[in-house]
This record gives sequence, C-alpha cells and structure tokens, in this order.
Amino acid sequence: MAEKTKQAEAARGTKIVATIGARAEDPAHLRALLSAGVDVVRINSAHAKPGEILRRVALVRDLEKEMGRPVGVLLDLGGPKIRVGPVEEGTLEWKSGQKVEIVPGSVRGAEGRISVTYPALLKDVRAGDEIRINDGRLRIRIDAVSRASLSGTVLTGGKFRGGAGVNFPHSILSAPALTAKDKRDLEEGLQAGIDLVGLSFVRTAAHVRDLRKRMQHLPSHRRPWIVAKIERPEAVANLTEIAFEADVMMVARGDLGVEIGLSSVPRVQREIVAMGRRLATPVIVATQMLESMIENASPTRAEVSDVSFAVHDGADAVMLSGETAVGSYPVEAVRTMAEIARTAEIPSPDEAGGPAGPSGEDVATVIANAACLAADQIRADRVVVYTMSGWTARLVAKNSSTIPVIAFTPFEEVRRKMTIIRDVTSFVVPEVGSVEEIIQAGDAVLMRQPGLPGATIVEIAGVLNVEGAANSIRVRKLGEAPTARLPRRPARGRRGAGERARPEGPG
Ligand code: PGA
Ligand code: MN
Repeated sequence: MAEKTKQAEAARGTKIVATIGARAEDPAHLRALLSAGVDVVRINSAHAKPGEILRRVALVRDLEKEMGRPVGVLLDLGGPKIRVGPVEEGTLEWKSGQKVEIVPGSVRGAEGRISVTYPALLKDVRAGDEIRINDGRLRIRIDAVSRASLSGTVLTGGKFRGGAGVNFPHSILSAPALTAKDKRDLEEGLQAGIDLVGLSFVRTAAHVRDLRKRMQHLPSHRRPWIVAKIERPEAVANLTEIAFEADVMMVARGDLGVEIGLSSVPRVQREIVAMGRRLATPVIVATQMLESMIENASPTRAEVSDVSFAVHDGADAVMLSGETAVGSYPVEAVRTMAEIARTAEIPSPDEAGGPAGPSGEDVATVIANAACLAADQIRADRVVVYTMSGWTARLVAKNSSTIPVIAFTPFEEVRRKMTIIRDVTSFVVPEVGSVEEIIQAGDAVLMRQPGLPGATIVEIAGVLNVEGAANSIRVRKLGEAPTARLPRRPARGRRGAGERARPEGPG
C-alpha cells in the first residue's frame, strides 16, 4: 500500500496547494501534510499576526530539507475584504422585505441598521445595486443613497454575524488593492522569503503592476510570482490584461461565486484555465474543492467530479482551504486530492493530444512548441529545460503534451516558484562555466534519477545567463553521445503526426 502510494505520488503532474492554519505550527502536523503530497503551502495573511509569517515560512523551509524536494510558499494577502461592523449580541436576523440602513464605518449595528467597513461605501454604491452578506446568503437591494447612509430592501433574508463578509456584485469599487495590513504582511513575507504572493480582489492589470513595483528592489529571481485572484466581476471583464500581467491566476471561487452567481463560476473557471493556457500563466482552482472533508473522512461524488474536471481542463494546481487549515481530515483531504488528480490525468484513448499551447512569434514560444511537438512525435520520456526565470518551464508545461518536464535553474528561489507549474519537476544546477558544462551538470542529476539513464529526452537550452534566450532544441538519449540513434517506439494511445490523417478503427 505504501509502495503504491509512492508510485502514485511520482506520477502526479497537477500540483496541490494547501492552506495552513494555526495548528501547522506543530512540525508533526505540517510534516504529515507535506508527506501526503502538498506542493505549495498557502498562508492566509488575513488572519496572520505579526511574526507569524516569518515563523511559518521558517518551519516550511526546515521541513523542505527533510522532504528533499522544494515546497512553495504562497502568501495570500487578504486585500480589501469588506465586512459587517460589530452587531448587538453578535448576531442579527433580517427578514425578506424588511427596510434596512447601512452606514460606512464600524459603529455597532442593531435591528435594521448596520455598519460596513468600507469608507467609500456611499461613493461607490448606487441605487439599484445589490449588496450580499454572509457568503451571499443575504441579498439587499439598495433603494437610495443619502449623504450618511444607504437604504435598501432585503430581497433574501437570513442571519448574520458581526464581521460577516460583504460583497458588491454590481458596484465598481474604488478601494486600493492593498490595505495597510497587506503592506505590512508583504514586508514580512518578503523578509521570510515567500515564493508566491496572492493579490485578492484584483480588478485591473494595474493592480498587479503596482504590487510588482513594490517588489522591484528584489532581483528578479527572488521576486515572488504574483497570483492574481479572480474574484470580482471587474477582473473577469479585464481577464486578458490581468492574465498577461500576472504570473499565476487563481479562480477564487468563494468570493467569485457570490459576486457573479454560482452558476456562472464553472464557465468562468474554464475561461480562466483556457486563458492561462494561451498566455502560459499557471492557474490554481480554489475553494470548496473537497469542502465536505472538513467534517468527513471521504468526499462527495460531486466534489470528486469537480476536482477531476478542473484537472482534466488543464488547471496547474488545485487548492484546499478549510479542509487543511481547520478541518478534521487534513491529511486525508490531501491524499484524496492527489489520487483524484492522478486518476484524472490518465489520458483516455480518444483524447490524443496534439501540438497546441501559446502561439506567438517570440523565439522562446516557438522553441517550446517545437520541443513539445518533437517530444510527442518521438514519444520522449522527458522534456528538459534550462531556465533562469521559470518562463521556459511555463511555456512548455502549457503545451498539450503530457510528457513530464524537468526544469533546471541556477536559483533555489525559481525552483520553488516552479512548484506551482503542472508536470514540472525541478532541480538546481549552478550557473558555472559554458552552456555545455551546465548541461553536463544537469545530466549528472538526471542520471541519478530512477529510470532516467538511457531515457530519450528533448532538451531546450540556449544562452543560459540571459532570461528568455532559450533558442535550441536537442534530442538525445541520456548517457549517450548526442549522435546515438533514437529508438522507434510502438504507438500507444497518442498518434504521431504522420498518422493523424489516417482514420482509426475501434480497438
Ligand atoms: P479567500 O480567497 O479564501 O482568501 O477568500 C479564495 C476565494 O475567494 O475563493
Ligand atoms: Mn476570496
């Protein structure tokens, strides 16, 4: 059983992001999560107290050494999350049809009047807009905006607590992308050496650029990748420019579902995954993937389908939130995720891949596509890339080829960032000497991997000390001179280009 799990682990390409909570400060707990297959640990900064980020990242780094593989850390900045102010007795109940009043600030609410922690409330919300409270359960239509308050009618009633989340699906919000706490958390995160930084409630590409500017003082290999969380209608409208600007996108289905309506989430999810593929931007699918496992040792069938389809559609990573942060079955949730992902990755015979992926005229893209096409046609065992920034690995991974990718980089930091990219395993090789010497060092690493000596590889290299300079492809057998004859392998499942036009009968 243990052996089987290990093999399964080795075969999984989709990455798992797991949110950690307070109990992950216990090394045994975190070790168990990582051993179960977590690739990227997510720290939700909304709840982080000073010093907590430093402590948790340090613990991940300690355990990472034990694991012998890189573990990415995603610091997810809370962003301008808007909440209900304090309310009398902690909870209020509003009935459908009731007339209510909402004021900006955090004065104590009672009966039909509450405050909401958003200073620009009266400026950004208009009559006719809807406000949703408590994960969208309560819906309030705003009838009028005065100089001091919003007045509205409850469309769908319910109970809510002080501090409940508030969403504004119809309003264009002017809140700055980062709060004062976000800025402090980012500082601490950069000091701690995080690999990815989540930007909540992104609305435009400019928000992504602003965050990047804040990290400009770092050399590029140490600058965390920016994860744009798509959870506002404005972000969906501006998806192309955000996908272009961001390093990674997250389908943040929690807030997104409240903002655009649950039934639109799957469609937008597919759109984001497809966009990520076109622009080589990795995509994380998040929230309620195995929600029922917060309380149960096994998932529902619907949850299994959800994870499976996300993987099938091409998500790079699937994410666990409460399941691992506060749930009763955190390790089981990670194992379940891993198993569903691995099973979903098995190609069905009628889904033979073909060359696809980002199109473009820049050399790196053309080389990546050509390498994947070559790898598919000769049925290579691995695509091997040498990358300074991780970009070549992203390009290759986004291709429809399902051949596993090995990425070499001189930077431990880049190696950790690549933990988010599907189908990519990575190693560090020092950037010393000529391209050939670096490749020799890479080969020495590959020759130590079980099953790789003698494997057929398609290798992308170039001028290694220049970002984006990958410009050559080489096909060879590991451990033999580059002139060695390549084996002809029998076709299985996937078709070579020469056979594409030939109709295939059943079986
Ligand atoms: P959150 O983001 O958990 O930080 O709110 C994810 C989501 O909204 O789905
Ligand atoms: Mn959210």
